[in-house]
Amino acid sequence: MGGTFDPVHNGHLRTAVEILDRFHYSSLKLVPCFQPVHKGRPSVTPEQRLEITRLAISSDVRLGVDTREIQREGPSYSIDTLRYIRAEIGASEPLIMVLGMDSFLSLPTWHDWQALIQYAHLLVVSRPGWEPDLISELSAFCENYRAGSPHELQCAPSGRVWFETLTPLGISSSMIRALARKNEAIAYLLPEPVQHYIEQHQLY
Ligand code: ATP
Ligand code: MG
Repeated sequence: MGGTFDPVHNGHLRTAVEILDRFHYSSLKLVPCFQPVHKGRPSVTPEQRLEITRLAISSDVRLGVDTREIQREGPSYSIDTLRYIRAEIGASEPLIMVLGMDSFLSLPTWHDWQALIQYAHLLVVSRPGWEPDLISELSAFCENYRAGSPHELQCAPSGRVWFETLTPLGISSSMIRALARKNEAIAYLLPEPVQHYIEQHQLY
């Protein structure tokens, strides 16, 4: 599950644990980007975003952080990341990229987006405020690759798209940054250790 994690919040974390529980996956890695391709430079450093992401996942052993995009530096293209992971795990292991509906709807603007599905499955999760209004390119993509059941994602290495509705949490990093700027409480939107790190280091 890639993201800017600027900062990581309970919307990301509930998504991660609900997916792990629902599909009985063994692990889920958060992949903080170095430099987002479609938005401005984050206001805190990649190292700080990595640090708070590490703090956030410490309460569930199934969660991990993959640092490869931060180590690679430069613009973080998901296609590069998936190619590297695929090369590492071999051709036959299922690999699943988790993304929210808002990200999925922007897919046609991603670098080499049509190729993503050759390296991984896409698991698209609901996000409050984002309806699956598929423009023609995306609906053709879904027609080609939509799985008949989520089980299909565990039976092949890549090539399927599945949509899953999770507990709706209307939390975003932008909302947390805006609250922090106004000196309003960010508590209960993200894990306490992350909240404390943000307050201690006066981020945002
Ligand atoms: P920003 O407001 O800065 O864009 P964000 O909250 O959207 O931040 P990102 O780091 O951009 O967080 O998101 C990483 C991934 O997590 C994306 O695929 C996004 O769709 C998904 N995601 C983020 N928040 C939620 C949420 N509340 N529910 C479901 N998915 C989410
Ligand atoms: Mg976002």
